[in-house]
Amino acid sequence: MFDSELDQKGATNLRRRLFLSSVAAAIGGLALWQWKMPALLRAAREPVASSEPKEVTIVLFSDSGERLKRGRVSRIVKTAAEWRKQLPEGVFDITRNADTEIAFSGKYWNVHDQGIYRCICCDNALFDSATKFDSGTGWPSFWAPIAAENVTDTRDTSYGMIRTAVSCTQCDAHLGHVFDDGPQPTGLRYCMNSASLRFIKKT
Ligand SMILES: [Zn+2]
Repeated sequence: MFDSELDQKGATNLRRRLFLSSVAAAIGGLALWQWKMPALLRAAREPVASSEPKEVTIVLFSDSGERLKRGRVSRIVKTAAEWRKQLPEGVFDITRNADTEIAFSGKYWNVHDQGIYRCICCDNALFDSATKFDSGTGWPSFWAPIAAENVTDTRDTSYGMIRTAVSCTQCDAHLGHVFDDGPQPTGLRYCMNSASLRFIKKT
């Protein structure tokens, strides 16, 4: 190979490197711009989220179910597109669009192992198996959340019924509904979708 050919190749490689580094700089600049994007612009992109509080109070639990501490955490706010990317379609429909899984179809209605149930979207601890009972409904049922702070009740008038919907306090995932026909000591029945939960078996 002649020297001139080598020079030619070297020049091409150099141009390619320069081009790639300018692309990288442009991408970096874009990321920086998004990071520094004014809150006003972000609020315009997510109008629903802007009026909600930025922080919420929840109780943190270890995977073995130990209560760690109660404290303020950032609310998790994502766009529908971001949730869609993170969650399988059925889980997205249930957690983000308040759909309900078919009775006896979920993976936890018949689970009796010891452990805790976390939010499928954000890992917030939601229920302890100690409060799980067999309701015969085909949905995992609990007589209390793991901590009152970790779930949020809202009035739900959809489908011509008045019900109390239950969502994750940290990320607003729809979990299911709560009814007042549960067993003692609370008399409540938290009727949940398996799809909204992630079970962590006690080891
Ligand atoms: Zn959550």
